[in-house]
Amino acid sequence: MAAAYNELLDATIQHLENLKSRGVRHVAVTSEVLKALQSPIEKPRANAPVSNPRAPISAPLEKTVAPKIISTAIPSATSEPSAIGNRQSAITAPSVIRHSSSEKAAAIAALRERALACVKCPNLAASRKNVVFGVGNVDAQVMFVGEAPGADEDEKGEPFVGAAGQLLTKIIQATGLSRADVYIANILKCRPDTPGETSGNRKPTAAEMATCIPYLHEQIDLIQPRVIVALGATAVEGLLGKTVGITKLRGNWQEYRGTPLMPTYHPAYLLRNQAMSEKRRVWEDMLAVMGKLEMPISEKQQNYFLKA
Ligand code: SF4
Repeated sequence: MAAAYNELLDATIQHLENLKSRGVRHVAVTSEVLKALQSPIEKPRANAPVSNPRAPISAPLEKTVAPKIISTAIPSATSEPSAIGNRQSAITAPSVIRHSSSEKAAAIAALRERALACVKCPNLAASRKNVVFGVGNVDAQVMFVGEAPGADEDEKGEPFVGAAGQLLTKIIQATGLSRADVYIANILKCRPDTPGETSGNRKPTAAEMATCIPYLHEQIDLIQPRVIVALGATAVEGLLGKTVGITKLRGNWQEYRGTPLMPTYHPAYLLRNQAMSEKRRVWEDMLAVMGKLEMPISEKQQNYFLKA
């Protein structure tokens, strides 16, 4: 019995490690499974018929198709990394419970408080003016994720309020939504420091992203958007672990733990490259998002940025 149990345990750990190496961070667990896993192992009685070694936990596992999937202890963004993996790739239980708006708002507010007090990156904590947590509708169907705060965002404590942010607002409005309808956040909550320089931005380091990403994971878990729009290569890298160029990825649906994710150019890129063709590419990505959300699309919207 013990040997069979250990064999099954090893196989389970191996399976979870395989999932983790493929970027899966959450697995579905039912309350019955959790209960079974927490129960002491029954020792077989002498002369008792040998039962199927998988029986103690396979029975509840078969019930994973049941709708009662619960949110288990999701590692907190402020928790330390587990011994078996880093924070970015840690396998955690899903948050598929549908929270009410007020529950979401309260949970987001509590998470925000934790982020505002965060000093996990001492250099960023020392140089920032504000932690830029995120903003928008906790019931948003679409969530926009960018890279990191710039100087304007650091100053105001709100993401996407500078020139690139104003362009993002226009893009959102062109779909028929407003900033208040969506949720906007970044991979990194603090502005990357640029020691010795008075201006300019830098890309977050891999270590900074890995340290901060649990906050974004929790935001997404709580908001549960129907679609995520990743703005730029760093957002894709932070969310999916993919370092493929954004030029190749944009316009092609990806998946973030079951949620459709559309990679597109960062609005800052559109400020640098004003070509109509690039605007059209981003707009086509937005049309795809609108289609996924079953939003009405007018003929005028269909034709934005098409040459006459
Ligand atoms: S970047 Fe994120 S993890 Fe680092 S100090 Fe800021 S809030 Fe904390």
